[in-house]
Amino acid sequence: MPSAVPSLPMSTVATHCPYCALQCGIFLTPTPGGVTISPNALFPVNKGGLCVKGWTAAATLAHPERLTEPLVRTRGGALAPVSWAVALGEIAERFRAVRASHGPDAIGVFGGGSLTNEKTYLLGKFARVALGTANIDYNGRFCMSSAAAAANRALGLDRGLPFPLEDLPHASVILLAGGNPAETMPPIMQYFEAQQQNGGQLIVADPRRTATALWAGRHLRLKPGTDAALANGLLHVLIRDGLVDEPFVRDRTEGFEDARRTVMAYWPERVESITGIDEAAIVEVAHALGRAPRAMILTARGPEQQAQGVTNALAYINVALAIGAVGKHRSGFGSLTGQGNGQGGREHGQKADQLPGYRLIENAADRRHMSAVWEVPESDIPHAGKSAFELLDALGSEVHALLVMGSNPVVSAPDAGRVQQRLASLDTLVVADFFRSETAEHADIVLPAAQWAEETGTMTNLEGRVILRRRAIAPPIGVRTDLEILSAIAAALGRGRWFQYRDEGEVFDELRRATGGATADYAGITYARIEEEDGVFWPCPTVESSGTPRLFADRFPTPSGRARFHATPHAEIADLRDRRFPLLLTTGRVLAQYQSGTQTRRTPDLQAVSAEPFAEIHPVTATHAGVADGDTLLLTTRRGTALFKARLTRTIREDTVFVPFHWNGEQSANRLTNAALDPISRMPELKVCAVRVERAPRESVS
Ligand code: SF4
Repeated sequence: MPSAVPSLPMSTVATHCPYCALQCGIFLTPTPGGVTISPNALFPVNKGGLCVKGWTAAATLAHPERLTEPLVRTRGGALAPVSWAVALGEIAERFRAVRASHGPDAIGVFGGGSLTNEKTYLLGKFARVALGTANIDYNGRFCMSSAAAAANRALGLDRGLPFPLEDLPHASVILLAGGNPAETMPPIMQYFEAQQQNGGQLIVADPRRTATALWAGRHLRLKPGTDAALANGLLHVLIRDGLVDEPFVRDRTEGFEDARRTVMAYWPERVESITGIDEAAIVEVAHALGRAPRAMILTARGPEQQAQGVTNALAYINVALAIGAVGKHRSGFGSLTGQGNGQGGREHGQKADQLPGYRLIENAADRRHMSAVWEVPESDIPHAGKSAFELLDALGSEVHALLVMGSNPVVSAPDAGRVQQRLASLDTLVVADFFRSETAEHADIVLPAAQWAEETGTMTNLEGRVILRRRAIAPPIGVRTDLEILSAIAAALGRGRWFQYRDEGEVFDELRRATGGATADYAGITYARIEEEDGVFWPCPTVESSGTPRLFADRFPTPSGRARFHATPHAEIADLRDRRFPLLLTTGRVLAQYQSGTQTRRTPDLQAVSAEPFAEIHPVTATHAGVADGDTLLLTTRRGTALFKARLTRTIREDTVFVPFHWNGEQSANRLTNAALDPISRMPELKVCAVRVERAPRESVS
């Protein structure tokens, strides 16, 4: 494969980091050897801060492994270069054959939470209008779906943070449950630091004493899978000790009795026995929250990536409602979004049950609106399809062809070994990517796609701020943008009339029409406004509107206008420990890698920091297992095995082992994880399962 060197950039461009949901502002500057990155100190989110991933993000642009030609699998089994015309013809022929044999729903589409809003929107339209399939979902189902479902049920609207980050320093107390932003998005720590300087307190609930927990004033080292019990215990104490904001509960909420009845059974002593958190600490944290003039509760993937993820998030929302924090200035409840466009990615129609702007695919008025925007009969718009894991699990049985865009499920999906088998049973797998990811290695057809700096598009950061990534350089010759790829496949399928766009701006204008009047209303947002105003917060229904940085101040967008408490009984995890699997496994991210590692594992400076995964294990547990620091460990769960280097540390609970999930093959954490799904959000239980740890047999250590 020839090296693909991007054309020289035109001039310095203000844009954004390609990685996490903070979407730090950066400058890309042309140099004779490529581009350099520097932080944009004027962008109000990162204020000049960048983490090591942002500093090194240019490394992927001119990478020698860049795909620059379409590839088609030959009879001999290898992927060989072909022209775009051949690749598109092959896709159209194969998709038509699957549709003729099995119907339109037999073609699936799998998107990603790093795609721009324009791509997310067009991928949803492509599935429904070009393919006519109900089966589209995306990897964000594995990230934000529990928080989203809980926020919708309790608050009537899902925006990760319903307030801007600039509110954090003013909170008297912040409880952060199951998040480690000091490693995953370090520039955000300046807000927590300012909060501490203002006399505020940060409390972290996490099974590990993470970098964030080390930094916080207090750490609650809870047992994985017990968040609902902890939150119920906090609410129990708040009620018992007269710290509920009764006027707020009376005037702005409903359903308090449901929650009160449930939490009566969660007295602190019992909660200590479930969570492992000292009874006195539970009482003290409840008192700190209940007495704080301005309190915030933030959740992240720890409580959310569980088969009771929605219940966990609802339980924390109950606490935030009980103390009257939600909708109050510089207070509230929020969930920290992880993926680059984890917010916008879940708003614009790549979820199986949604249409753009959070419209619902089963809502008659929403379907009529989209039928008018898309200029197709309402009856032609498919109904709800399968959620992400259910879609992957149906490959080869109900779904026979799959298009993957912006995702690498072989590494990132739970029970990855099973997913890999399902992918292998497909008639046709098409992957659009800029590298030969582990998923692309299984493909029949691979399409070379442009990267972040090579195309324009909007992203919506963790605050709900819509920002613009400007094209800074041209893609390598032979590479197309995802928008061009979707339009070209649609044309090859005879549906090109619905996919005629001059540029990304035209797609965005259609997105604005599609979301007009919807919950996530982008109608008043334009590229020019985003640049002039350093981003615009949705909902923004008209160009005269200033957008909505803070939500819920006067009412909640529920039918009654009130927020809703829920009964949130704690349940056991799906994959219980026994004598064969006596420990708990939890997974997460490290500073120098991102998601499935497709980009960061190809970045030399990041590999120099984090070349391989590890298993954090307590020294006492290690002694019982007969392993020493640096040994290769064989981790076994009811789904598979994987190998990790032992890292002995007292920062983890004795009953828990932690591994990061950015690697593949024998080092794949997701070969171990459990795909038990939350009944509401369909979130897999990525964060906790039973595991056995032993020193690896010599023959398995390479
Ligand atoms: Fe990029 Fe996130 Fe790091 Fe900022 S914090 S530089 S957006 S990875």
